[in-house]
Formats: sequence, structure tokens, C-alpha cells
Amino acid sequence: MPRRRRHEPRPKLPESGVLDWTSSAHWSREERPCRYCGKLTHLRDSARKPAHKTCAEDALRRQAEEAAAAYESARLA
Ligand SMILES: [Zn+2]
Repeated sequence: MPRRRRHEPRPKLPESGVLDWTSSAHWSREERPCRYCGKLTHLRDSARKPAHKTCAEDALRRQAEEAAAAYESARLA
């Protein structure tokens, strides 16, 4: 698996709002606490951090909304 550079932007949420985590890169044998909700998960996000898929989707959606809101308020200022 290629290593991500630290400053590389986070993956964007697809139009469908659903991430494709079918790749084995998103699976670990070891259960770890989700970085968002703290419940145990075998899943890993694109940075290999423990995360539920639904939690990551919610986080990406929230980031997109916050970015849009920040852009909107900067544009109106
Ligand atoms: Zn979670």
C-alpha cells in the first residue's frame, strides 16, 4: 500500500455520500476504539486509524458542510 504524505488532503465523500471500504486495506484483525465514537471496530480509515465507516462518512459530511459554511461566510464578509 502506498504511503500517504502527511499534507495530502483527506479523501472527499463521493456523491452518493457512501464510502467504498470493500478493500482489505480498511480491515484489521485487531479491534481498536473508533476515533470518532470510541466503540471497538475492526475497520480502518484511509489513514489506517480505527474508525467505523458510518462515523467516517458523518465526519466527512460535517467537514464538507463546515467548509461550505466557512466559504459562504468569508464570501459575504
Ligand atoms: Zn464509530
